[in-house]
Amino acid sequence: MDSTSEEKLRHDIVARCRELDASGLNRGSSGNVSARAGDAMLITPSAVPAGDLDPGLIARMPLDGGGGWEGPMKPSSEWRFHLDLMRARPDVGAIVHTHAPYSTILAIARRPIPAIHYMIAAFGGPDIRCAGYATYGTAELSAQVVTAMEGRNGCLMANHGMLVAGANLTRTTWLAHELEALAHQYYHALLIGGGDVLTDAQVAETAVSFAGYGVNERKV
Ligand code: 13P
Ligand code: ZN
Repeated sequence: MDSTSEEKLRHDIVARCRELDASGLNRGSSGNVSARAGDAMLITPSAVPAGDLDPGLIARMPLDGGGGWEGPMKPSSEWRFHLDLMRARPDVGAIVHTHAPYSTILAIARRPIPAIHYMIAAFGGPDIRCAGYATYGTAELSAQVVTAMEGRNGCLMANHGMLVAGANLTRTTWLAHELEALAHQYYHALLIGGGDVLTDAQVAETAVSFAGYGVNERKV
């Protein structure tokens, strides 16, 4: 990847972090964002609130390394699951992890989200799984996340939060908002007794016309 494209990606990561913070999906220094840059991954530094980020603080980590990195600050403590997912999934160009309120409430209850709304089709199947608990930043947590993400673009993380993965930062940030919307809807549906769940066939039918929904690029 040339340096102009990488610079653009660094600016985009910072802009997405600010957006996630402003919309309440992340607070303080919770959460992290990464993007594939050729044979490397760009990832937010650890423990820096969105308002204090700048493109030069984003760390660069080779995809074929064991966690070695370049940059002025150490990378996110969650670099392992970002790296492991990007290695395991060539379709993934960006990953967003948040402690968004409703997703985290369901993750505390360890409740997967069933197909309560057709928008679940954007996540690759009829449910959003909840990855098993492991201490943040560990290889064990990464293994739990990679398993919960099999065939999916998003999952909850027990007693922690959620993550989403997509082809690029635009798509992935969109998925983060959509997952939090599903969690918000499911939480409230549970309060009034649950509601009906779509069948696997109904979700599959939606998925056919839905693969590219959420990215609508301006032509002129
Ligand atoms: P970092 O600030 O190290 O990215 O950690 C935030 C977080 O959400 C850990 O799970
Ligand atoms: Zn976290």
